[in-house]
Amino acid sequence: MITIGIDIGGTSMKAALTEPGGAVLAKTRRPTLADNSRDATIEQLHSCIEELTAKAAESGHTVDGIGIGVPGTIDLERGVVYHPPNLPQWDEVPLADIMRSRWPVDVRIDNDANCAALGEAHFGAGRDYDNFIGLTLGTGVGSGIILANRIYHGERGFAGEFGHITIDYNGPRCNCGNLGCVEAYIGIRYMMRDAIPILQNESSSPLHQRARNNPESLSPEDLSRAASDGDAVSAGVLRTAGERLGVAIASAANLLDITTFIIGGGISAAGDVLFDGIRGSATSRALRVHRARLTILPASLGNDAGMLGAASLLL
Ligand SMILES: [Zn+2]
Repeated sequence: MITIGIDIGGTSMKAALTEPGGAVLAKTRRPTLADNSRDATIEQLHSCIEELTAKAAESGHTVDGIGIGVPGTIDLERGVVYHPPNLPQWDEVPLADIMRSRWPVDVRIDNDANCAALGEAHFGAGRDYDNFIGLTLGTGVGSGIILANRIYHGERGFAGEFGHITIDYNGPRCNCGNLGCVEAYIGIRYMMRDAIPILQNESSSPLHQRARNNPESLSPEDLSRAASDGDAVSAGVLRTAGERLGVAIASAANLLDITTFIIGGGISAAGDVLFDGIRGSATSRALRVHRARLTILPASLGNDAGMLGAASLLL
């Protein structure tokens, strides 16, 4: 079975032609054109599929199915996408029907973070684990719950919003309207909001002057780089971010008896300093029965997780 997996991001969409084992036969990408119109984005999807269908034909294959990961809430039964925040021109879009009317194959859609977790489950760091929670750290905190090697969707498809677990009921306001969500600390913008005053006060950090003169130019990648070059201040910021994430991980382990967490996305590249923070706080806070089993691993597929997971929606 040859499938096409597409991961729609806010700025670009990535697509792969894959074999069932996850081998990628061809890849392509297009700008998402999120600010143009709904149909402009959908045309970009068609254009990716056209290119990959032609590539499949060149090697004597036909495409049997299309899987699409979308950054928004999805009615899985009807294949409808609701108000994805990063696709502002989309309201309620019957994406599965739209795609089926042009491509007479099986079409599946799911949330992008669910697809990333499924990609890791089939082809990445989650291959050896039947149950885990996959986290993608970026502008927000995406997540997918994998139970018995499948995505756990909840009653209506909305499960897995790890980023909106509250870790301080008086904490800062999150995008969702609630206070003190994980995302209100670990999402890129929020994390830099906390980091910049610290860097502005700590003259020992190589980022100190930039934090004073041009704070908007600083990103989590700068913190990671400075930390790996030995900056204790940046390392401290990342360790604190990890500790905060670990608080929510302990709660999730207690609630679900899932003890494996696979973490990817932007700041996960910070490596040991972040992961040590996560492991330290998760292990000290989880119930005793979970502590020895808690396994917190970096994701292994990088940016390909979403499209490979989307392709495996058909499996
Ligand atoms: Zn929230």
